[in-house]
Amino acid sequence: MNETLIKLLLQQSDGGNPALLPGAMAKPFFGPALDPLLSSKILVELPPAVEWPVCDDCECACATRPILFVDGKPIAACGLDRASDTPLEDHDLRTFEIDIEALIRAIGVSSGFPQQQHREIRQGVWFLGTVAEQHAVFITPMRSVVDDPTLHRALHAAAPQGTATLLGPSVNGASWTRFADAKISYVVAEEAFTDDGFKLDLGRLLPVSTKPRLILERGSRRATFDGRGTVLSQRAFELAVLLCKAVLEGRVVVTHDEIEKIIFSGQSADRLPSSDAIRDLRKQLGPLLKGNRTTNSIKNLIQNKPSVGYVLNLAASEILIL
Ligand SMILES: [Zn+2]
Repeated sequence: MNETLIKLLLQQSDGGNPALLPGAMAKPFFGPALDPLLSSKILVELPPAVEWPVCDDCECACATRPILFVDGKPIAACGLDRASDTPLEDHDLRTFEIDIEALIRAIGVSSGFPQQQHREIRQGVWFLGTVAEQHAVFITPMRSVVDDPTLHRALHAAAPQGTATLLGPSVNGASWTRFADAKISYVVAEEAFTDDGFKLDLGRLLPVSTKPRLILERGSRRATFDGRGTVLSQRAFELAVLLCKAVLEGRVVVTHDEIEKIIFSGQSADRLPSSDAIRDLRKQLGPLLKGNRTTNSIKNLIQNKPSVGYVLNLAASEILIL
């Protein structure tokens, strides 16, 4: 299964029940990726849509537009102006409901946690099992659950030895620190999967003992290095994530090709050679290293491997992506 399908399912479960996956989002996965989820009831297809939102600037007083079929093709029909009709595709009419409990159970089973241990410890938070000497692993796809200031007490109470990793949605640095202060390792769930469908990388769930040096916050594009922070441009941030992921995945070197393909895909108007993109990232990160005793050269932090690519000189344990 494609890695991005699990990310999509978790993201769509962010608000809790009902968690819906619109057909337009599911479309790239129709067939071999989606069918097993339908047969195992992780996804349940709802009846096809018969209504559509009204046109943006419509004068009609209707709450919705009816979906009509013209020559077998669906359209969202405006009550006032045929020119405002919106042509639809068949997949636009489809909607799938995600059974969050079943999704979480599938993640637990695929990752090798015993099914009988799996339980919901409070609404929206599941205990999956333990790794390394009874270190508990919990998961929630829901942001509101993570923001609840009483959550860490519930996790401690439900953990066999009181130590825990919580897998959850992307959070900011302040939330991460709140969990770290409570001795809970917070891991962004999307970042913790292997390439193998719903299987978690158990190595990523171990207690984090060292303080991360480089923190990247997706929500704000903020990069913090040894306590100093700055907001990166979109392109520089994506490039920083790419370099970090290579370290986390044990690949180390990021090639020129990878940089040009992954970072600039679909932005042909804005293409840059990888060397220029790296120069730009170094320029934005450089000020964070001023006066740093351990790492004072940005060229050593992001090191050039001539004719191959670039290496981020940090250990996996020193990197945190939120
Ligand atoms: Zn209209």
